[in-house]
Amino acid sequence: KKYVVVTGGVLSGIGKGILSASIARVMKECGVEVNTLKIDPYLNIDAGTMNPNQHGEVFVTEDGYEADLDLGHYERFLGKDMRRENNMTAGQIFKTIIDKEREGSFLGATVQMVPHVTEEIKGRIRRIPGELIMIEIGGTVGDIEGEIFLEAIRELWVEEGSENFLFVHVTYVPYLRVTSEFKTKPTQQSVQLLRRIGIQPQMIAVRSEEPVEENELRKIALFGGVEREMVFNLPDSKNVYDVPSIVYSYGIHRKIATRLNLEIEERFEWDY
Ligand code: ADP
Repeated sequence: KKYVVVTGGVLSGIGKGILSASIARVMKECGVEVNTLKIDPYLNIDAGTMNPNQHGEVFVTEDGYEADLDLGHYERFLGKDMRRENNMTAGQIFKTIIDKEREGSFLGATVQMVPHVTEEIKGRIRRIPGELIMIEIGGTVGDIEGEIFLEAIRELWVEEGSENFLFVHVTYVPYLRVTSEFKTKPTQQSVQLLRRIGIQPQMIAVRSEEPVEENELRKIALFGGVEREMVFNLPDSKNVYDVPSIVYSYGIHRKIATRLNLEIEERFEWDY
């Protein structure tokens, strides 16, 4: 099984969900059996009780699970019905652990974040069917809530083999109007945060308001420890439904297939 893990840096709401769903769609069009997992590090069990002003629509899956709007993105982009197993929250994980502890399932062990919580997370990820699993980790690298999920995925990467993993880091490059320049420092620092917990991304997706110049992209590649051809710039699109075509035109699917040793057909039809 292969995994593409999408993390976010610098700030939230930069389009990780849209990009993950777009990559998933392109890979599906190329003949790969794709499944998705959105990890929400919040402590709610699901989005059903959350204020829609903060979290957008509550998206109800066909098996009755109340997820947040990202699962809606995945369903619409991928053309595949989402289910309970496509979303994981910290609330679900901790509830399971505490219920198990009360049942005595840990047989007297001291229940800990590592290994008990991480094993629970890894077990759930492993049970997701599919040839390629797109995992999107909600929030931003450096958030306390997200740490345990990143640790679990780092362990999974060690256990399943690095050849089966591709880490995509989505960042934001701001433009300073007064000095007329793009700023890559926040991106560099967010990659450093990832590395500090043992994860080196192989691909960096740079979101920005306007197209970022070649010089800046080269700098991001150099300081991020990523090949230049694995750094992609995604300036704001007029329509988010254009993003899958942009992903395809950049050849992101080919880079992913090569890295993960996946056989793909060059084919993409996207008519929304
Ligand atoms: P995240 O998953 O990082 O929180 P989302 O994917 O939910 O971000 O996107 C946040 C917002 O940004 C959404 O309203 C979405 O429509 C918009 N957005 C995402 N990607 C793009 C893009 N490439 N161009 C323009 N708008 C985008």
